[in-house]
This record gives sequence, C-alpha cells and structure tokens, in this order.
Amino acid sequence: MDRFVTFLRRQIDIDLELHSQARHDQETGTATHRCLVGPLRGFRECELKTRLLTQHRRCGTGEGPCDTLGTSYPPEDQRGCPTLALLALPYADRPGYAQRWRP
Ligand SMILES: [Zn+2]
Repeated sequence: MDRFVTFLRRQIDIDLELHSQARHDQETGTATHRCLVGPLRGFRECELKTRLLTQHRRCGTGEGPCDTLGTSYPPEDQRGCPTLALLALPYADRPGYAQRWRP
C-alpha cells in the first residue's frame, strides 16, 4: 500500500504546486488562460483529498475505518479501500498510476 499512498500523496502535492503557480500568475497578471476551477477551489480540493487520505491511510492494514466496516481491500491490494481507490482515479493518466489501481 505504501507505493499507492506515496503516489497519491505526490499527486496532491503536484496539484498544490500547479494551483500555487496559477494563483501567482493571476496575481501578477501573467495568466495565459482562465480555468473554471480557480486556485482557491483547487486548494480546498487538495485539502479535502489530504484529509480523506489521512483518514483512510490505515485501511487494509486491519486498523483503518474501512477495516472496522468490513469494506477494506485485502492486505495484498495496494489501494487499501474503495475510498482511496476513488481518490486516485483523477490521476489515472499520470505517470506511475498502475491500471490495477482502477476502482
Ligand atoms: Zn478506507
């Protein structure tokens, strides 16, 4: 599960960097295009993803909330639980995403 969680954490960090750059470009008037999702919304979505990742980080180890509910994946599945698998889905086209991680 470490590889999967590390991948997911890195993608959120990349998003944060992209939103920071977009905010900088807006503030300095150097933005070349306008996105429907502004940097502030992007930051809030990154916070949401980080909180979900933190909450479900132990799923699949026997110590996560989804283990208690009986909805986690077996330990050999790197994804941990359906929530984490869905959380990674938007990053399916990024390098390092394994197709077996698809929910
Ligand atoms: Zn979970």
